[in-house]
Amino acid sequence: MCPQDSNISQLLLQYVRFLKELGFVCMEQPHPQSSAFDNKLTELEQLRQEVLKCRMCKVLAEYRTNVVFGEGNPDAKLVFIGEAPGEKEDLQGRPFVGQAGALLSYYIKSIGFRREDVFICNVIKCRPPNNRDPLPEEIANCEPFLIRQLEILQPVLICALGKHAAQTILKQKLPISQLRGKTWNYYNIKVLPTFHPASLLYSPNYKQLFEQDFKKLREIYDKFEKNKSQIT
Ligand code: URA
Repeated sequence: MCPQDSNISQLLLQYVRFLKELGFVCMEQPHPQSSAFDNKLTELEQLRQEVLKCRMCKVLAEYRTNVVFGEGNPDAKLVFIGEAPGEKEDLQGRPFVGQAGALLSYYIKSIGFRREDVFICNVIKCRPPNNRDPLPEEIANCEPFLIRQLEILQPVLICALGKHAAQTILKQKLPISQLRGKTWNYYNIKVLPTFHPASLLYSPNYKQLFEQDFKKLREIYDKFEKNKSQIT
């Protein structure tokens, strides 16, 4: 750096300090987006600590290896909700890491997202013995945690995977065949139910409808992004 350069730097620094004094520049101002992100991260962690301690369902608490809180981007606009952890999920403490998880990851990628872009969780945070269906009282015990997760995440779109997720979130008793493929509303968040990915393993004829639903998820998401860019 030559002496003239250092003089210019000094002058620029003085000028910036002067602007700061006048209130035109505030270097310490936190980036609003990153502080919202940090808040979500902190709130999710606080909630996770609470869920880890939960022993409301005696059988599930005795039987579990790990609580499976859920994982993903705290700023995710798209949240996937499954039913309950299976064996692999219970062992690893992470959602959808078994066979059904491989299918879910594949279809998430097929519509242009990475697992890290979205948030993945379940209605029930502990594995039911032998992967039986969650009992109504277990869903009732665990649902407040799901509700709080959604309150923190504030997604634009929820994909409910299978009957239990769809019926719980929508307070509906209809079978998944009648709930899927349509857009529903959950406190101003769009909900698109579809089949549980595990059901594709047993009923390959669901594959086409499942793919159709995933394309629709992408369309709804893109419409939201387009509207947002028109507003800003
Ligand atoms: N099935 C689910 O519903 N959730 C998981 O996390 C894994 C399998």
